[in-house]
Amino acid sequence: MKAVQYREIGKGPEVVEVDTPEPGPGQIRLKVTAAGLCHSDWFLMDLPADQYAYGLPLTLGHEIAGVADKLGDGVVGIEVGASYAVYGPWGCGVCHACAEGKENYCARAASLGIAPPGLGAPGGMAEYVIVDSARHLLPLGDLDPVQTVSLTDAGLTPYHAIKAAQHKLYPGAFALVLGVGGLGHVGVQIIRAISEATVIAVDVSEDKLALAREVGAHHTVLSGPDAAAQVRELTGGLGADAVFDFVGVQPTIDTARESVAIDGFIHIVGIGGGILPAGFFSTPFGAAVRNPYWGSRSELAEVLDLARTGAVSVHVQQYGFDTAVEAYGRLHHGQVRGRAVVVP
Ligand code: NAD
Ligand code: ZN
Ligand code: ZN
Repeated sequence: MKAVQYREIGKGPEVVEVDTPEPGPGQIRLKVTAAGLCHSDWFLMDLPADQYAYGLPLTLGHEIAGVADKLGDGVVGIEVGASYAVYGPWGCGVCHACAEGKENYCARAASLGIAPPGLGAPGGMAEYVIVDSARHLLPLGDLDPVQTVSLTDAGLTPYHAIKAAQHKLYPGAFALVLGVGGLGHVGVQIIRAISEATVIAVDVSEDKLALAREVGAHHTVLSGPDAAAQVRELTGGLGADAVFDFVGVQPTIDTARESVAIDGFIHIVGIGGGILPAGFFSTPFGAAVRNPYWGSRSELAEVLDLARTGAVSVHVQQYGFDTAVEAYGRLHHGQVRGRAVVVP
């Protein structure tokens, strides 16, 4: 089968021919219907050899939708031929966090050698993928897999962050979204769908700011050293009650710190390597900072239900295996509007 793999440090993704995998006991083989590209794929492909810990060759793709194609021994509850979304942050399944469906915060996964597909385990940017457990599949029903696949990360991750800040998003409150890429453009829609807050979106690209307005942002601000001052002005001097940084580089973290309101929330979602110093005088009184990772299984179900109501939709740019490497290049250069999705 065809697969998009990262095979050699520093060389970027390649399309290769590999063996079609067989499901072991308890596993499900999906025939992939769509796989999304995430900036985290570039995070790992940009790592130097001494920091890279995801195994080589690595089949990329941690946003996966597919049709159940073959069941391993003992699998129950999965229907061959039915369409599913893959819950990606695989955990041990038995610890307290996993029992709550928060496998994204499983403390045992790393020590047990459990890794998400595309981030250690073979991912979904291939014709077939093995899913470790029926627990990691959510039925898509009538939802279009190509339009929906990115909700498994670009939807779930912002949803998890925004839901945790929902008590700050009361009517009259201001939410600040930094970075209107794959995650950010869904994040804007989620804030609009589950709160009455006013949304201010920030990006370095005018085109991304136009996308932000199309998906519901009330105000847009060009990223830069003056962005925080503009946010202060738009919020009557008070600042943003909840800040969601979907970039995480030093300039956006600085904007987050300078824009947050007293008693506000900063969620650093982007893994751009910026640092927010912690100390009594580093943020306004009462401000809290959090680094949320992906989301829970029940939150993925909620995001899919938001898509079913039409409240949230991903702006998809579709590619095939023949153009997957080009799609990764466009993502690296900030040229993807919304989310790039490979359709086998
Ligand atoms: P993306 O490339 O689709 O979007 C990034 C956006 O940020 C682009 O619109 C770009 O123009 C904008 N941007 C870049 N520099 C900026 C700056 N200085 N100021 C304002 N905007 C700027 O990326 P994505 O796939 O949406 O991922 C976003 C980040 O989130 C990445 O760092 C990714 O690795 C990370 N991520 C984290 C989690 C998590 O669980 N915490 C999950 C998924 C992705
Ligand atoms: Zn991701
Ligand atoms: Zn666990």
